[in-house]
Amino acid sequence: MQLSGKITAAAGARGNSVVCVDEIGPGEPILRIQGPRLRAPGTYTIQRGANDHISGDGATWAYLNHACAPNSAIDFATWELTTLRTVCAGEEITYNYLTTEWDMASPFACNCGAAHCPGTVRGFRHLDMAQRAAIGPLLSPFLHSKFG
Ligand SMILES: [Zn+2]
Repeated sequence: MQLSGKITAAAGARGNSVVCVDEIGPGEPILRIQGPRLRAPGTYTIQRGANDHISGDGATWAYLNHACAPNSAIDFATWELTTLRTVCAGEEITYNYLTTEWDMASPFACNCGAAHCPGTVRGFRHLDMAQRAAIGPLLSPFLHSKFG
C-alpha cells in the first residue's frame, strides 16, 4: 500500500523500480509492506518469519530493488518502508533485501561497491559474521532471532 504521493512505480528498460518524484525527507513513510501470506519465498515476497512470506503480487512495493547501502528501510513496528535520509526527485527508492530474507528464491549478483556487499545476494543465512553485523541495526525481528 502506497503511503506517499512522492513516489511512482516505473517499468524501464533495466527492469521495474520505485522512483522518487518529489523530494522526500528522512524518516518519511513511503509504502506499507502488506499482502497475502505465503509459506514459501518467491521472487516478489518479503519474509516476516519462518514459513511466513508477504506476497507482493500487484503491490507497488514489489517494484522495490535491492541496495546493500539503501536509502530506505522497513520499520518493523509498523511494516512501513521509511526513508533513511533525504531522497531527491529522480532517485530510485531501495532497501536491503538481506535485512528480511533468510534464504532467497531468486539470488542475483550485486556489484554496488558497498564495503559489506556480498557480491551475490542470496539471503542472510549466506552472509559471514562481518556482513551480518554491518546490517544488524536494520534487521527484521525474525533475522534478529537467527542472528542472536
Ligand atoms: Zn551490493
